[in-house]
Amino acid sequence: MKIAVIGAGYAGLSAAYDLARSGHDVVIYESTDRPGGLAVGFKEPNWDWSVEGYYHHWFASDEHMLGLIEELGFSEKVRFPRPYTVMMHKGKWYPFDSIPQALMYPGLGWGINKIRFGLVGLYLRLTNNWQAMEKTTVDAWMRKWAGNKVYETMWEPMMKGKFGPHYKDVNMAWMWARMHARTSRLGTYVGGFQAFTDDMVGVLKDLGVEICLETPVKEITESLEVTFDSGKEKYDRVLVTTSPGLLSRMVPALPDSYQSGLKDLKSMGAVVLTLSISSQLSTQGYYWYNIPKEQGYPFLAVVEHTNYLSPEYFGGDHIIYCGDYRDSDHPYFEMSKEQILEEFLPPLKRINPDFDPSWVKKSWLYRTKYGQPVPEMNHSGRIPSIQTPIQGLYFASMSQVYPWDRGTNFAVEIGRRAAGMMMD
Ligand SMILES: Cc1cc2nc3c(=O)[nH]c(=O)nc-3n(C[C@H](O)[C@H](O)[C@H](O)COP(=O)(O)OP(=O)(O)OC[C@H]3O[C@@H](n4cnc5c(N)ncnc54)[C@H](O)[C@@H]3O)c2cc1C
Repeated sequence: MKIAVIGAGYAGLSAAYDLARSGHDVVIYESTDRPGGLAVGFKEPNWDWSVEGYYHHWFASDEHMLGLIEELGFSEKVRFPRPYTVMMHKGKWYPFDSIPQALMYPGLGWGINKIRFGLVGLYLRLTNNWQAMEKTTVDAWMRKWAGNKVYETMWEPMMKGKFGPHYKDVNMAWMWARMHARTSRLGTYVGGFQAFTDDMVGVLKDLGVEICLETPVKEITESLEVTFDSGKEKYDRVLVTTSPGLLSRMVPALPDSYQSGLKDLKSMGAVVLTLSISSQLSTQGYYWYNIPKEQGYPFLAVVEHTNYLSPEYFGGDHIIYCGDYRDSDHPYFEMSKEQILEEFLPPLKRINPDFDPSWVKKSWLYRTKYGQPVPEMNHSGRIPSIQTPIQGLYFASMSQVYPWDRGTNFAVEIGRRAAGMMMD
């Protein structure tokens, strides 16, 4: 079959891999100048490794991603360094990336709250019954079972940071999925995520896959004619891996029932400012700062990449990410990089009083209006099907990996699942 895949993120690349291995003619259309999608990386001339535009790592439990890497023969390039995550309590930072450290965290006091925190964590780790949890919200479930104090100290700040005004709408299955599947061990690829993408693209090219970069698809018709700036091409099957909103606009021929399902899906945008700086920001060696919104910071997380990976890989530069999730109409999506810098740099002094804006050697701003789906109650009944009502047209996105939270692992899973359906 002649197959078009729209999008060279990990869902599209993984689908293309399975389709091409089965002997199909596959073309990938990608609107940007590089493959990798949200996991795309960039590199300065003096760096050996690339840095991701949006901070990325794998969990030790990411079986689909690690399995694919093994199949491709690149497992020896996966690394799991040991980083330190910290949480704030009364203006001070406390290590928070293992159960013993979480139990030592002073924010919960001693006694019953610590026990409730531990029991809830254990329950979510052991139970598989997420279906019951999607009938309630994180806010309601946690208040009931973990208690107000534990919820307000541990989970509510993270929920507010990630989902802003929608945090009370998120269903409990979303939290279950995070607690159930994630590990504190964080992995990466020698050379960065872009190096993995490039290795995978090399395999795809050997299999005969054609990758058309800087080729945004404008429209797909009912007869699977794909239109881009320089022409049109007809295919036997098409897989779209963009956001639901883009699919809706790209395929006006989709029936109203499917279109309205796409439009009903909610999501948050993501904004990440990356800095290369001349000195270490967290001299304690902390990697990930979880920042409660109440503390008045303009972002949700500060991530010092070079407290996870040696600055040696980046020509001695120290790499900092300042990240946030916001509604797609937030001013962060309109502001210039200079305006964002003005807002984001001063608070870094609260992390290291010696920090000075003159430390900044270079900065990069990555923004996406589709960065984090927001699953509301009973979301499973609202997931658009991978096989769309148009014969031969398939859709695989972050909004459909539910109950799992979005991530490269699940992009691989859904991409390969979609490829299987296309070949059935
Ligand atoms: C801030 C942030 C942090 C994250 N951290 C992690 C992490 O630590 N670990 C992890 O595993 N995951 C993380 N993720 C999630 C992960 O990046 C995504 O789940 C995954 O990359 C999604 O892959 P995808 O292929 O489904 O979509 P995408 O990567 O979005 O790929 C879609 C592709 O389609 C292209 N496209 C769009 N429109 C068109 C068009 N008209 N024509 C042609 N091409 C088009 C896009 O350019 C893009 O390349 C993070 C995401 C964000 C935003």
